[in-house]
Amino acid sequence: MSPAAASPLDLVALAGDIARRVGVKAERGMPLGKQTTMRVGGPADLFATAHNAFELRGLVRFARSRDLPLLLLARGSNVVVSDRGVRGLVVHVRAEGSRVEGNEYVAEAGVPMARAATETQKAGLSGLEFGLAIPGSVGGAIWANAGAHGSDVKSILESADVVLADGSEARLPAAELGLAYRESRFKHQPGDSPAEVVIGGRFRLEPASESEIKARLDDIRRWRQAHQPLGIPSAGSVFRNPPDGPSAGALIDGLGLKGSQEGGATVSPKHANFIVNDRKGTAADVRRLMDRVRATVLASTGVDLQPEIVFVGDWAGWPWAADA
Ligand SMILES: Cc1cc2nc3c(=O)[nH]c(=O)nc-3n(C[C@H](O)[C@H](O)[C@H](O)COP(=O)(O)OP(=O)(O)OC[C@H]3O[C@@H](n4cnc5c(N)ncnc54)[C@H](O)[C@@H]3O)c2cc1C
Repeated sequence: MSPAAASPLDLVALAGDIARRVGVKAERGMPLGKQTTMRVGGPADLFATAHNAFELRGLVRFARSRDLPLLLLARGSNVVVSDRGVRGLVVHVRAEGSRVEGNEYVAEAGVPMARAATETQKAGLSGLEFGLAIPGSVGGAIWANAGAHGSDVKSILESADVVLADGSEARLPAAELGLAYRESRFKHQPGDSPAEVVIGGRFRLEPASESEIKARLDDIRRWRQAHQPLGIPSAGSVFRNPPDGPSAGALIDGLGLKGSQEGGATVSPKHANFIVNDRKGTAADVRRLMDRVRATVLASTGVDLQPEIVFVGDWAGWPWAADA
């Protein structure tokens, strides 16, 4: 079935099939802005929430069995959804089971990283403190090899449970996930739908006193409050830091671009590598501003900044779509 041609009737039928086959209610035309931290974006053709790993597997396999384009949306803290929305099925990852096993923390893909940080603190386990800085999920953090405050997923991940392209599931050791600076094998999948989906992760941690860990969490909280535009819609760092030389933020700040605007999108006056949305902005505003900043930095410094945020959904025909 061609998703572009899906008529309302097709969607009704698909939603019925999802309910019957997977036991999950799928909604039509769900606006996605509220499901993302940038607060922009149009509707999903079909939107279904996976509350546990069983439903997540079921929805992924259903989409594959029907050739239905699939987008995973977890905490939505690294994405900008197109104003035209998303064709096919959006699976909202809310599988949030977690447990401590000895010195390991085992979490389903939807567990918020901040919760992982506080749960492991209470268990007297250190290593996941940086998760407090990441408003994403365990699955999204593995996908991004998210990191902050001198650590990242790669330094503590033991293995991930993954639905593979052939539909089987495997526990892959972290060494097989291609984790590097904001990189993983999950970022390099052919086609529009993910061939591999993270169901959960197992983190190897070190025993430490709860008060020591609490002190680190307090430092992280203070640092974020001082340096990041919190409480205002954004998707975190817009660009990856270049491998050498000044950071993306320093390059942008050095050119006096803080405060630059396109519609409701602004380069944060607090952190030059954040674009914030005044809540009236559109996805197109964010993308136009990002492209303008990138073009200015390229023309002035010769550095071609690479986007860290991801543009998802229907961006067909967007004139600046070259390599985002
Ligand atoms: C204020 C702010 C501060 C931030 N600070 C940091 C920081 O310090 N360090 C950092 O690294 N990042 C940071 N980020 C970015 C973001 O939080 C991380 O990239 C996070 O890991 C994204 O997780 P998510 O659940 O929100 O993913 P989403 O945005 O929902 O999805 C991102 C991508 O991952 C894919 N995905 C999601 N779940 C899965 C899964 N289970 N299996 C396979 N693919 C999946 C999605 O399809 C999408 O392509 C920040 C963001 C904000 C808004």
